[in-house]
Amino acid sequence: MRLKNIPGARDMVAESSLVIHEPEKTKGNWQEVFQNNHPIRIEIGMGKGKFIHEMAERNPDINYIGIEKYSSVLLRALQKMEAAPLPNLVFIRMDAEDIEKVFDREEVDRIYLNFSDPWPKDRHAKRRLTSGEFLKRYDRFLKRDGVVEFKTDNRDLFDFSLGELEGAGFEALQITYDLHQDGEMSQGNIMTEYEERFSNMGNPICKYIVKR
Ligand code: SAM
Repeated sequence: MRLKNIPGARDMVAESSLVIHEPEKTKGNWQEVFQNNHPIRIEIGMGKGKFIHEMAERNPDINYIGIEKYSSVLLRALQKMEAAPLPNLVFIRMDAEDIEKVFDREEVDRIYLNFSDPWPKDRHAKRRLTSGEFLKRYDRFLKRDGVVEFKTDNRDLFDFSLGELEGAGFEALQITYDLHQDGEMSQGNIMTEYEERFSNMGNPICKYIVKR
């Protein structure tokens, strides 16, 4: 994502009650944040938060946590929440490399990865959020029957991501190379900011849903 630095974004994020600060301290206790025992779903690298905000709006009986590395981007998601507050959505500003420090075994029901950064150089492959390294992290806190859903228009990244599944103990439940033309997988699809941009350019969107 091209990052426009917004002066004061870090302070605004640090002061926001919509952001869980020191999320490691909430490990194992996320249901207390929402004060109910509804399932918890997370989006890693949520960007400006359009997708997760709409998901939370449509599904009030599911709790959502949006994770984003940069304050200037997360700030946009906070502004959406100020305009349309929701009780079932909170945010974390962090690098997902440390994600196992934040969630406990079986604590998360579903993980969404949307238009994750491709890190095209081979030597950076471990940084891809769909790499075997990340899948092994997810394995530590995803419910036994939980799933990971990944969308991208980047065919190289998608092929790489499919190739990482088996070694990390995951298998594909559903795959499409053209989501918007797939009658079954496109049902209820919520477009992300990147998805709108790239599908408007004519790029087909790939998607997988995987489980262990
Ligand atoms: N998911 C959004 C969408 O589909 O419109 C944004 C996609 S954007 C290409 C990728 C986002 O992931 C950026 O906002 C970036 O800052 C965030 N990101 C990348 N690596 C991350 C990491 N390791 N931890 C947290 N966020 C990350």
